[in-house]
Amino acid sequence: MNGIPPTDDLIVIAGAGGFIGGALVRYFHARGCRRVRAVDKKPLAEWFQRLPEAECLCLDLSLEVDCRRAVDGAAEVYNLAADMGGMGFIERFRIECMRNILINTHLIEAACAAGVERYFFASSACVYNTNLQSDPAVGGLKEADAFPAMAERGYGWEKLMSEMFCEEYWAERGLKTAVARLHNVYGPHGSWEGGREKAPAAICRKVIEAVRAHTGRIVIWGDGTATRSFTYIDDCVSGIDRIVHCDALIATPVNLGSRELVSIDGLVSKVENIAGVKLAREYDLSAPRGVAGRNSDNTLIRKMLDWEPSTPLDTGLAATYEWIEKQFESSQTERNRAGTVPQRA
Ligand code: NAD
Repeated sequence: MNGIPPTDDLIVIAGAGGFIGGALVRYFHARGCRRVRAVDKKPLAEWFQRLPEAECLCLDLSLEVDCRRAVDGAAEVYNLAADMGGMGFIERFRIECMRNILINTHLIEAACAAGVERYFFASSACVYNTNLQSDPAVGGLKEADAFPAMAERGYGWEKLMSEMFCEEYWAERGLKTAVARLHNVYGPHGSWEGGREKAPAAICRKVIEAVRAHTGRIVIWGDGTATRSFTYIDDCVSGIDRIVHCDALIATPVNLGSRELVSIDGLVSKVENIAGVKLAREYDLSAPRGVAGRNSDNTLIRKMLDWEPSTPLDTGLAATYEWIEKQFESSQTERNRAGTVPQRA
């Protein structure tokens, strides 16, 4: 496979306390990268995963000075840092999403000034023109469909602008940049409760809750007809590596997503099958729902890399469900234990 060879070069992962960044740290370590620096704003105790062999730094990458510290000595920098979440978060907190532009602006400048060889930016399918996503039976969105621009408000516009920074840093300053438009990444070690979780994790958690509480019902955001494709985390990190190390894709935004389209109702049915239950469905039409349909056109990535994400949704969902079930159980145990602690007078 094309990708990074074993190396002593310093690899910096920004947003490493989060879902994809954390998985990328593990991935590069497993590939033989002996020096990985993991950076995140969150206190270490809140990181989703931590690799003992990695250098872990708590820095606020919306600050120029912290970006300079983060990239010091780096050969490659991966920007996975962002204040973000699922549809419930990006529809409610557009200002926070737009402020992510500070992170990429300072980090790419610091990387360029430090002589970094390659720089990666995690963009999103939310850059695509929303007018092309009004039908659940959507065809795949190809890279050119981002223009004329009518991105998702807040989050999508920030991603589009940061993509352009990457393109211009290559054009004007010769920094080898790479941009992947990620499509709904899911898997173990992602957010699964608290408001930032995305549809697959939220549905797994709701099914688990329904099973445990014997409610026999589930509340679904929207009317269940919206369609999406969901990309398993292992495909995501492998794809990022392949994209970054393909010179033909320098400064060229490319879709990194599954083509397996499923409706939200279909997603619920898959999770029900895994859990071995059938629940009564209640549709919350006032909840955030996003565009009606979105899928990834993988013509470009297949042509350039002879590869595309291929983990079947059923396989990835089964692993995700199992992981969330364990998290749920340990959080219940924690709560019960806390509840039995005698209250002080
Ligand atoms: P995540 O929320 O799990 O991780 C993001 C991390 O960035 C968090 O740990 C957060 O603490 C950190 N962060 C936020 N602000 C920071 C700052 N100022 N300084 C340092 N760290 C900061 O999100 P994720 O799912 O891992 O997503 C990673 C990237 O991929 C983001 O840019 C996101 O927009 C993009 N993306 C993700 C998806 C997806 O489905 N997960 C889809 C499209 C794009």
